[in-house]
Amino acid sequence: MPRTIVRLGAVTIGTAGLVLAVACGRKAPPAPPPPTGPLTLVVDATDVGRKLYHAHEFVPATTGSMTLVYPKWLPGEHAPTGPITDLVGLSFSVGGKPIGWQRDQVDMYAFHLAVPPGAIVVDVELEFLSAGSTSGFSSAVSATPHLAVVTWNQLLLYPDGVNTDQVSVQPRLKMPPGWQYGTALHTVSSGDGGVEFSPVGLTTLVDSPVLMGEFFTAIPLDTSDRPVELDAAADSPSALAFSPALTGKLRQLVVEADALFGARHFESYRFLLSLSDHVAHFGLEHHQSTDSRVYQRAVVDESPSLGVLAHEFVHSWNGKFRRPSGLATPNFQEPMRGDLLWVYEGLTQYLGYVLAVRSGLWTEQYYRERLAAIAASLDHTPGRAWRPLADTATAAQLLYAAPPEWASLRRGTDFYDEGWLIWLDVDTEIRQLTRGERAIDDFCHRFHGGASGSPAVSPYTLDDVVATLSQVAPFDWRTFLLARVNATESGAPLDGIDRAGWRLAYTDVRNDYLKTLEQGEKRTTDLSSSLGVELGADGSIIDAVVGSPAFRAGLGPGMRILTVGGKPYSPDGLRAALSLAARPGPPIFMQIDNEGTVTTTPVDYRGGLREPHLQQVPGHADVLASILATHMRR
Ligand SMILES: [Zn+2]
Repeated sequence: MPRTIVRLGAVTIGTAGLVLAVACGRKAPPAPPPPTGPLTLVVDATDVGRKLYHAHEFVPATTGSMTLVYPKWLPGEHAPTGPITDLVGLSFSVGGKPIGWQRDQVDMYAFHLAVPPGAIVVDVELEFLSAGSTSGFSSAVSATPHLAVVTWNQLLLYPDGVNTDQVSVQPRLKMPPGWQYGTALHTVSSGDGGVEFSPVGLTTLVDSPVLMGEFFTAIPLDTSDRPVELDAAADSPSALAFSPALTGKLRQLVVEADALFGARHFESYRFLLSLSDHVAHFGLEHHQSTDSRVYQRAVVDESPSLGVLAHEFVHSWNGKFRRPSGLATPNFQEPMRGDLLWVYEGLTQYLGYVLAVRSGLWTEQYYRERLAAIAASLDHTPGRAWRPLADTATAAQLLYAAPPEWASLRRGTDFYDEGWLIWLDVDTEIRQLTRGERAIDDFCHRFHGGASGSPAVSPYTLDDVVATLSQVAPFDWRTFLLARVNATESGAPLDGIDRAGWRLAYTDVRNDYLKTLEQGEKRTTDLSSSLGVELGADGSIIDAVVGSPAFRAGLGPGMRILTVGGKPYSPDGLRAALSLAARPGPPIFMQIDNEGTVTTTPVDYRGGLREPHLQQVPGHADVLASILATHMRR
């Protein structure tokens, strides 16, 4: 391993005497530096093509027993997802002499060292395997031969017990030759030896990933004194063809966010966009940037998947600036409490999708179709009979990693999409209570606005949410919200859709959003509103809704539909059979493979093809159109 390169890089940045003292083998001063002193981190990402990182770190020493920890609880992931399994090649030394280490017997993220007297700095070397062998989000595959996202928490240890706001880090990054990069960090210098960034607090460093790539473009979206820029890297140059219309929509997104919140709590903001079919696809929020990853042609197609940018941008206000107190932890080892994720993620889901339409990234029609599909799915979730939405938030750290099988009985991270329904309910209730004078925008101005400034965290409790809502529209908001998040009833909260002038209805016309899901990466077929199953492309049963016709016929996860009515399984063929089944006649006969045992199963279904849509209620004002209307013209 080219560790010597890393070491040379580290010495050249020279913060200091700390590094020089190691290099020259000088005697340490009598008093050890405070554990919250400066820390130097040098990451060598030149080998990222084979998903291998090297890091070299200089940590101020505490003589005697010292414990260094690997970040475990990751902001935005709301779970202990620090990819400890992929941390390898660990070694420690003082003054060039190796020192021993021992992992804690209970806490797999803690490493105990015996630091000799007089040491002023511990020299840490480590490697990180970014092959995506562990969990999702930032731990999933993050590098291709042409681009990579550097996530700093994967590449460092820090002293146990500190407040990470108080630990100053001097970061340096060496990347493949010719690659460009984007990050919220400030560049001090760059050259063949790598890029040197300004020192930042450890919290800010972990909150500031670097997107780097061979094919790269930077598009200014707002050039004010708190500028906003989109930095994109792709696996091919042609994937970076932003049309003027798309760029205009992204600029409008910034304008609409300003109109919604009334202030910016960042010095600058970067949309870091990875366009690749070879990395995991998700969005992860940061205060002054987002790490958003979509399929390679998403920009060329002007795909609705770019709506992720609106969601993550909202998080700069709702999640980063205003944060539930249980998620505002002092370091990355302290467990998080996710009970208010239905505000953190649920309100962001609502506002992000509203901004996606206001900016033009989504059409109103797409928004309605997606809302209908989500509402219908939640309305066919038998798991809500035992698990209230509040528990999906509290158990988020489990549910992010839950498999899709039996999802409707288990429930998943429903605080996102059911949060969408609940906050639509809130918005329409505000509008009704104030006869259209006020809206969720007034809540956002009060709760997320104020004076623009540098990034800061303002924690909140449910009391704060209720108090601010009551300022906007006097009402018993506590009862309103708790009734919804604590409910264990069969139906989804659809009052917001009704109050917006629409209703959830089922027809035999395909739902646009479900169609895109079937044609997209996962290629899933959602028939939860009719037959009561969700299917993989090959007919494998991912989920069966308890009580549905499919469930009553004995179908469930682990099985695969081989034939429908004597013909090989296909989504269109199954839909045709469901349409025919609306008429009187025999049941649908399916050949089912259950782990190698094949049986022919009659499924008694008479409902026809039932696809969810929103239908406008005659005579009712289209409140949804008012909610989705562009607020600001450039
Ligand atoms: Zn989110």
